[in-house]
Amino acid sequence: MGLFSRKQPNIKIQTTKRDGFSGWLKCTRCNELIHTNELQQNHNCCPKCDYHYRLSADERIKLLSDESSFQELFQELAPCDFLKFSDTESYEERIKSATEKSGHNEAVIVGRCTIGGYTTLLGVLDFNFMGGSMGSVVGERLTRLIELGVQDKTPVVIVSTSGGARMQESILSLMQMAKTSAALAKLHEAKVPYISVLTNPTTGGVTASFASLGDIIIAEPNALICFAGPRVIEQTIGHKLPSNAQKSEFLLQHGMIDCIVKRHDLKNKLIDLLFYLTPQQDLSEDSSK
Ligand SMILES: [Zn+2]
Repeated sequence: MGLFSRKQPNIKIQTTKRDGFSGWLKCTRCNELIHTNELQQNHNCCPKCDYHYRLSADERIKLLSDESSFQELFQELAPCDFLKFSDTESYEERIKSATEKSGHNEAVIVGRCTIGGYTTLLGVLDFNFMGGSMGSVVGERLTRLIELGVQDKTPVVIVSTSGGARMQESILSLMQMAKTSAALAKLHEAKVPYISVLTNPTTGGVTASFASLGDIIIAEPNALICFAGPRVIEQTIGHKLPSNAQKSEFLLQHGMIDCIVKRHDLKNKLIDLLFYLTPQQDLSEDSSK
């Protein structure tokens, strides 16, 4: 599917011939000059206009989990080109270059960590790996993570960013929608909380499955969240969409998400929610006496 907005600002790197990369970037939303160090310290949000630029999975895990608490799981599951699929490039080649680009062997990293001291099963999609697309390994890793949540009664947090299902795996990637959703239904039956965090962009089969099934659904500001992108819809219905349609703020107004949380506040918000949603051990021990 691979649907994502082409209108979103990209960081343009300013260079001069004399000194190579100067370290200065121009924010394409507010046009202000910002320094890479400043951007990094600000979790990739523009210090001037607060536009939320993309975070890699590693940066996201560092932002949300307590220091050195993250232990990756199921990384032995790796994608393979079982259909021998080829478009302009073979799937095998694409996996290889995505692995080099992202430093990971799939578009999702899952593991166990603590967030503010609360043991949590965390899954993070990485847009740097084939647009965060969901193939069978992405679906399988997330499903195993959720099943671990059922087994251990541990809350699950998944941070999404995705272009949708991975077309190179055809029907097998579409089946991941049903598989992850079924696992989440079991998590729900087991009364274990699941918090879904949507970041820019979250689209296609990911939006249409686990990303929209959170007990609490959080979005970062100004994120594109949709099934089909605005251009596809406009071509289909022959109407122009409102300018902010399919953005977090519009979805909040229309009841599709629960809240919008800035990246700076995201970890504290998760800690608050985990506190509310997790049985408090101390309290229950006291009341049983
Ligand atoms: Zn800016």
